[in-house]
Amino acid sequence: GPAAARLCSGQAEAAGGDGAMLRHLARKLRASGPVTVAEYMREALTNPGQGYYTRRGGVGESGDFITSPEISQVFGELIGIWYISEWMAMGKPSTFQLVELGPGRGTLTEDILRVFKQLASVLSKCDVSVHLVEVSPKLSEIQAVMLTGGKVQPNPEDESAYMKGISKTGIPIFWYRDIQDVPPGYSFYLAHEFFDALPIHKFQRTEKGWREVLVDIDPEVPDQLRFVLSPSRTPATQNFIQPEETRDHVEVCPEAGVIVQRLASRIEKDGGAALVADYGHDGTKTDTFRGFRNHKLHDVLSAPGTADLTADVDFSYLRKMAQGKTATLGPIKQREFLKNMGIDLRLQVLLQNSGDTATREQLLHSYDMLMNPEKMGDCFNFFALLPHHRLVHPDKKDKPESKSPLPPVAGFNELLLK
Ligand code: SAH
Repeated sequence: GPAAARLCSGQAEAAGGDGAMLRHLARKLRASGPVTVAEYMREALTNPGQGYYTRRGGVGESGDFITSPEISQVFGELIGIWYISEWMAMGKPSTFQLVELGPGRGTLTEDILRVFKQLASVLSKCDVSVHLVEVSPKLSEIQAVMLTGGKVQPNPEDESAYMKGISKTGIPIFWYRDIQDVPPGYSFYLAHEFFDALPIHKFQRTEKGWREVLVDIDPEVPDQLRFVLSPSRTPATQNFIQPEETRDHVEVCPEAGVIVQRLASRIEKDGGAALVADYGHDGTKTDTFRGFRNHKLHDVLSAPGTADLTADVDFSYLRKMAQGKTATLGPIKQREFLKNMGIDLRLQVLLQNSGDTATREQLLHSYDMLMNPEKMGDCFNFFALLPHHRLVHPDKKDKPESKSPLPPVAGFNELLLK
C-alpha cells in the first residue's frame, strides 16, 4: 500500500476488529516464542482466514488507503500506452500476456484495457490475454465484477487458474495465486503497490553484531505485542546482511527478491518486460515499516489483521536480484515518469473536453495528487526489467553502424509515439 495518499484525510473510525487474529498470534507466541517480522506480516496480511487482504483488502476511497489508479484514470491509461509503446519497440509480437501482480480492485487493468480497446487498430491481430495474480478471494471477486461484470467461471478444469472470465472488451482473463502458475510466454508484467505488501525481515546493528528484530508477546500487558531483538544471530542475519553494509537498521524482503528473480528469468527466456511502481528507496532508508487504517498511520503491532502493513521497496535489492538476467531501468520518480509519458497533454485534452467546473476541479486535484512532489510525485518510483537486447543491439560491438538506433524506453525517456 501507499504513503502520501494515505496521509491525506479520511475519518478516524472507532477502533474495531474482533481481535481473533491477535488472540491467534498471542497463543502462538506464548507456545513457541517470538517470530520474525516477516512471519508476523505474512500472518497479519494474508492469513487465509483472518488476514487483512484476505478479509478486508481496504483499497479505495472507503478503504484504508487510496492508490494512484484509484485517484485518476489517466494513471492507468499512461501505463497502457507504456505497454503498447514497448510492444511496438519490440517488433509487435503476435501475442502477449498482460500479467498483473496484486491487482487490488482491478482499476488499473480496467484502465489499461480501455486504452487497448481505443488503440485496437494498432493492436489489431495481436492476441492479448490478461493474467491476474491475487491471493485474496475477496479482492478477486471485486476484480471479477469490475473487469467482467461478474461473469466468471470458478476452478476451470483445463487451466492452472482458479478462476477465468472474459473482459467487457472481450479479452480472456485468468486468476492465479502464484506467479509460477501463470503459463510461460511473451508477457508484460505489472506490479503497482505490490512489493511493498510483501513480508520484510528487520535487522538492528548492536555492539554484539547484527540482530534480527522479532515480534513477541509483552509479559506485562495481556495480549499486547512488542518488538524484541534476537539473542543471537538468526539464519536471516547471516543470509541477508551484506558485509559492506553501513546502515544501523536494515529491512530486507526476500519474497520480493524471489519474485524479481522469477520475472527476470521469464523475461530472459520468453521475452516481454516488467513495470514495477511503488514507493521506495535505492538502498538508503532504514526503518520504513508502517501500518495504515482509515487513511491514518496505525501502530503496526496493534490489532493485526485490521490494518494494512507495508514497507518501502528497496529498488537496489530488486536490481541485484535480477542477477543480470535482464537489464533494469530506474527507479525514476513518478512525476518524471508520468511527465515523460505525456500526462500534461492528456490533462489538457481532458480539461478541454469537460464541460463542468466540478469535473475540471477534480481533474486538477487528481493531477496534483499524482504529480506534486509533496504528495505522490516524489516518493513513488517506476522501475523496469527489460531484455538486454531492448537496450543494446546484440551485434552492436561488431557492427556499430549496422542497425538503426533502438527507440528509447518511454517513461524513462520522453515518449516518442508516431
Ligand atoms: N495494485 C493495486 C492494489 C495494491 S494492494 C493498486 O495499486 O490499487 C496489494 C495487492 O496485492 C492486493 O490486491 C493484495 O491482495 C495483493 N497481495 C498481497 N500479497 C500478495 C501475495 N503474496 N501474492 C499475491 N497477491 C498479493
